[in-house]
Amino acid sequence: ATPISIMVASGRGAQQGLLFKDAAAIETMREADTLVVDKTGTLTEGKPSLTSIVPFDQHRRAELLALAASLERSSEHPLAKAILAAAKEEQIDVADARDFHVLNGGGVSGRVGQSEVVFGNARLMQQHGIDLDQETQAKADALRGDGATVMMLAIDGKTSGLFAVSDRIKPDTPQAIAELKASGMRIVMLTGDNAVTARSVARDLGIEEVHADVSPTGKAAVIETLRKQGRRVAMAGDGINDAPALAAADVGIAMGHGTDVAIESAQLTLVKGSLTGILHARSLSQATVRNIR
Ligand code: ADP
Ligand code: MG
Repeated sequence: ATPISIMVASGRGAQQGLLFKDAAAIETMREADTLVVDKTGTLTEGKPSLTSIVPFDQHRRAELLALAASLERSSEHPLAKAILAAAKEEQIDVADARDFHVLNGGGVSGRVGQSEVVFGNARLMQQHGIDLDQETQAKADALRGDGATVMMLAIDGKTSGLFAVSDRIKPDTPQAIAELKASGMRIVMLTGDNAVTARSVARDLGIEEVHADVSPTGKAAVIETLRKQGRRVAMAGDGINDAPALAAADVGIAMGHGTDVAIESAQLTLVKGSLTGILHARSLSQATVRNIR
């Protein structure tokens, strides 16, 4: 493309809330035949709210919420905000946690008072050697039915309760996905969340291909596999956990409300945080390249 046509395109893009990092990104958009999308914060609002807590054994709801909130105070994750908002609303005293650790795309752990607390997904529980019995799994799956994200809380090595949060699909996501599919793009969902939750959201959106329970490096590996199969891959995401995948794609696309790391790893930022921007970016790319030839 000529420097002039690229300049025109990036100016027009900026007006529509499409920030391209370089000329290559503008040219590559039209060639992308596969769009990989993160779930939380990309297809959904990324503003989850706590819908239920299921305490096990003698544990009480307020106790579990207090422990989870203590750990989440040190986390930047949208799920952390949901927990802290609920604790605040219920006027629960939140203690300081010590020895705090984050597993990106997994959850948080640390010491609260005398207890060793682990809060997050199955991958995190496995990492801490915490056993998930069938009853726990069944209870979790029951909560996941309509797209809720379930987190498990373990105290001193034993699962002590489940937390369900739900996050609405962005109003313009269904139409954007339908139009991207109609334009011939292959759509793949890639998420660190559980398969039952992921499939429920995918079903609502008509997305047939789903990779769930994927770690941040696993996300990048999926992109690399698609590229090795000859696909031209655009990847849209918002989180720290998406950064390696955004960097691995032919075009990384960050949501404008996303984390700085995601925006830095991407070649295109959608200021409005709507997937409709991808349709506009493709039209712009097609028009630009057509003009040059
Ligand atoms: P996604 O790919 O959907 O954006 P992530 O990779 O960020 O999701 O997280 C995957 C899963 O790890 C979440 O669904 C949740 O179960 C767990 N998790 C991640 N971060 C946290 C956290 N701060 N607190 C509790 N659980 C978390
Ligand atoms: Mg996300």
